[in-house]
Amino acid sequence: MSAPITVIGAGLAGSECAYQLARLGHAVVLREQKPQKRSPAHVSEKPAELVCSNSLRSDNVESAIGLLHAELRDVSSLVLSCADLHRVPAGDALAVDREHFSDEVERRLKAQPTLRYEPGEVETLPSGTVVVATGPLTSPALTDALKPFLGEKLYFYDAIAPIVAADSVDPAVAFRQSRYGKGGGDDYVNLPLDEAQYRAFVTALREGQKVKPHEFEEPRYFEGCLPIEVMAERGDDVLAYGPMKPVGLTDPRTGQRPFAVVQLRHEDAAGTAYNLVGFQTRLTWPEQKRIFGLIPGLQAAEWVRMGQIHRNTFLDAPRLLARDLSLKAEPRLFFAGQISGVEGYVESTACGYLVARALHARLTGTAFVPPPATTAMGALYRHLTGEAHPAGHEYQPTNVVYALFPPLEGRMKKADKRAAYSARARRDFAAWNSPLVPPAAAAPVPLETR
Ligand SMILES: Cc1cc2nc3c(=O)[nH]c(=O)nc-3n(C[C@H](O)[C@H](O)[C@H](O)COP(=O)(O)OP(=O)(O)OC[C@H]3O[C@@H](n4cnc5c(N)ncnc54)[C@H](O)[C@@H]3O)c2cc1C
Repeated sequence: MSAPITVIGAGLAGSECAYQLARLGHAVVLREQKPQKRSPAHVSEKPAELVCSNSLRSDNVESAIGLLHAELRDVSSLVLSCADLHRVPAGDALAVDREHFSDEVERRLKAQPTLRYEPGEVETLPSGTVVVATGPLTSPALTDALKPFLGEKLYFYDAIAPIVAADSVDPAVAFRQSRYGKGGGDDYVNLPLDEAQYRAFVTALREGQKVKPHEFEEPRYFEGCLPIEVMAERGDDVLAYGPMKPVGLTDPRTGQRPFAVVQLRHEDAAGTAYNLVGFQTRLTWPEQKRIFGLIPGLQAAEWVRMGQIHRNTFLDAPRLLARDLSLKAEPRLFFAGQISGVEGYVESTACGYLVARALHARLTGTAFVPPPATTAMGALYRHLTGEAHPAGHEYQPTNVVYALFPPLEGRMKKADKRAAYSARARRDFAAWNSPLVPPAAAAPVPLETR
């Protein structure tokens, strides 16, 4: 068996990548800085930690993200399979019990005979073939070690939503309902606000004290994950049309649609905690307690975790990476997950899978055939290579969205487009997805005992 591949970072991308390589019989060392060291956002000791929301977003195959779920299931993804096993109610979203989910990922990784899980921070780049999957919060030492290879590096801010204890939410105010009765029909807990309450809340958000960025860090927010106070700054009604929109909801006590709502989503299978959907924030913690306490139903809230801000490190993939996602300047180095400029748990997972596939092709002397552009994985790949973007585009992390897909042919009603994108992708993915063949001499040889 050839020298082991080092995968750095047992997050979503690293766990998926290492698992897929090991499953194909390759020797892999998966190195993870936890539990000795942690980023400001990581709290658990387990792999594949979901650092913020416990939702892997919509599971509807007509959405771009739901399509990515389906494709990952088709390739026997570790992450999707563990998520499916530990799903919690969340309408048409795929949300998970994060503890059970990570336990399952760890169990399956450690069951691979050719994979060794090695705790401890990687501070210098190891020799041999390396997959860097250290995420948006790559440790400072490794960031420094990567600088000579990456040169220009970019960053922006993202923010975490707070979590509240379920039994501290006032049941006299809250009502259970999913928008338009989707999924289970009552998977979300809703806190209705009238217009005066909403306006007072927006004013408090604007006036609230925020955590100041470091001097060297200019805030550049990801549009899909704006802090709630930034949305409040953008206009009086921005929140009422955004995360606090009341559409598809009727307060059973009044029979009316509320002016605005705060939606709470299950954090765990037992239903002991909820997260405030879309309430990522950089308000200081005392201000969060004060201002979120203004929301009807949260006056006596017990906070399990407060919101936070964080830095997001990513490289300029279209400029730096080759077509097999290795570094043009140092082809033994591969980059997987959010550090390469995809955004989101599922997108990072898919990127980890694609790198495993590209690396497998390299190691077996076969051609790496990327997924078709019309598929969700292909759209992400086109983002990484820059093909999905016009010339001169400033590279920024992105979720998987239909804007990354090649346009549909022919004229079509807007309402039919999602179904058409989805059907085209499902057909083309099935044609591409041939099972990978392990290397000839790949009778699994266990690494030394763990
Ligand atoms: C605070 C925050 C909130 C987010 N919220 C969401 C959300 O709600 N939904 C969503 O879809 N996406 C969210 N994201 C975006 C992103 O999808 C996640 O960060 C996702 O976990 C990225 O996956 P990854 O595998 O690339 O990195 P990670 O999951 O972060 O995994 C990287 C791993 O590498 C380890 N590591 C780092 N440096 C070293 C080193 N030097 N040596 C060894 N190990 C190292 C880390 O400990 C970690 O385990 C959020 C990101 C952040 C930072």
